[in-house]
Amino acid sequence: MKFLRFSTPDLSPRYGWLYEDKIGQIDGDPFTAYRRLDPDIPVDTVKILPPAQPGKIICVGRNYAAHAKELNNEIGDIPVIFFKPTSSLIGLGDPIILPPQSQQVQHEAELAVIIGKRGRWIQPEDVSEYIFGYTVANDVTARDLQRSDSQWTRAKGFDTFCPLGPWIETSFDPSDALITCHAGEELRQMASTRDMVFSIPQLVVFISSVMTLEPGDVILTGTPSGVGDLRSGLTVSITIEGLGTLTNPVIDEKH
Ligand code: ZN
Repeated sequence: MKFLRFSTPDLSPRYGWLYEDKIGQIDGDPFTAYRRLDPDIPVDTVKILPPAQPGKIICVGRNYAAHAKELNNEIGDIPVIFFKPTSSLIGLGDPIILPPQSQQVQHEAELAVIIGKRGRWIQPEDVSEYIFGYTVANDVTARDLQRSDSQWTRAKGFDTFCPLGPWIETSFDPSDALITCHAGEELRQMASTRDMVFSIPQLVVFISSVMTLEPGDVILTGTPSGVGDLRSGLTVSITIEGLGTLTNPVIDEKH
């Protein structure tokens, strides 16, 4: 099932579910108890919003060997994790804004996990009951600032640096899904999630040994090789087989 968040001129932001090209409203909370109302709103008449409202966005670095190699990084024995602020979230079609502080902003196509249930010290055999679903993310990164700063908060944290969506798929097998990223017409990234160094269960176990995961929290699971520069006027499209396509235009910041 596909859950999304949307608004219209008449409807405030809310959850819905997608059936073919129509949206039905959700009565209740998708993470606990809800009822699906009839799909009667054409999807092309709404504004699609980021599909989750996370308390935190936890990201995993160097989780594909070929990407670690292209940045001359070693792969460690434990996952590298960092945060993106929730203020960096944007949805389908919203522009990625290139900040004046960076000369090298890059895309990172990633599979995103949406947490469905509160948990700490989650055990490997229990991971699936803590996952609500999956969506597509772009871990936009100011690569020059990532190199110059010892912490990645600035490089990863600008407004608009976390495109997410278009919707959450609750029935998805993440073990071998194709991820592709196009910048304009150019194919930049193509890999399978089977090439991850640390699997999704391993990541959930590891992160929950550090911090309590809450419903709506988002885990970005790392990017494959092929990251490349963005410039104003390009459109970035990331597709994950079974999850849909996340498309965002790129513009310069006006200030
Ligand atoms: Zn990343």
